[in-house]
Amino acid sequence: MDRNGSLIVLSGFSGVGKGTVSKEIVKKYGYHLSVSATTRGPRPGEEHGREYFFLSKEEFLDSVAQNGFIEYAQYVNNYYGTPRKFVEEKLESGQGVILEIEVQGALAIKEQYPDAILIFLTAPTAADLKERLIGRGSETMDVINDRLKRAVEEAEFIDHYDYIVCNETGKIEKCMEDIHNIIETENTKVRKQQNFIAGLKEELKTYEQ
Ligand code: 5GP
Repeated sequence: MDRNGSLIVLSGFSGVGKGTVSKEIVKKYGYHLSVSATTRGPRPGEEHGREYFFLSKEEFLDSVAQNGFIEYAQYVNNYYGTPRKFVEEKLESGQGVILEIEVQGALAIKEQYPDAILIFLTAPTAADLKERLIGRGSETMDVINDRLKRAVEEAEFIDHYDYIVCNETGKIEKCMEDIHNIIETENTKVRKQQNFIAGLKEELKTYEQ
């Protein structure tokens, strides 16, 4: 069957572990992860071209003007965008691509790619979320509070997603499996297997005589 070619959007509250989950799921199941561009500065340990393409505001807006992103959004005072070339190339060659993006971007993707699978990642409770943001130790309390405020707004968008998956502390494997199973199930939908079905029909005809 046609296994791939899916566009998978993974969103979730800040601190929920989207970054780790998407990196690990790519390693384990062989999906491709799109590397976004951003105007925010790198956190310790982040590398240009690996976590993000770190751009100045001018560079980012130049790329917007050249239609270089399939979507972009502003999030807590910075711009974030999904480079067009990588995603289009992977999808054209029938491979699965994961976008780890926030809610406005997810909705923009669903408009352009109605078959995209939108998955929202959450923690079991709001207290868990706050604890994880503090535990990460990379942001000031002001930034953490901005991100928690933003989470209240983001929760209003969950209804636009196709699936919600819980990332429970210490159970990342289960979370990855849940996501992989969703993708596999979506891929076996008849409308997504039209090429496979057409090939099968042709083959069956050769046995007709
Ligand atoms: P962070 O600064 O924590 O890495 O990311 C902040 C938010 O921006 C996260 O919710 C992340 O998913 C989102 N984000 C990362 N890249 C993109 C992108 O290319 N487009 C959009 N719309 N959001 C993104």
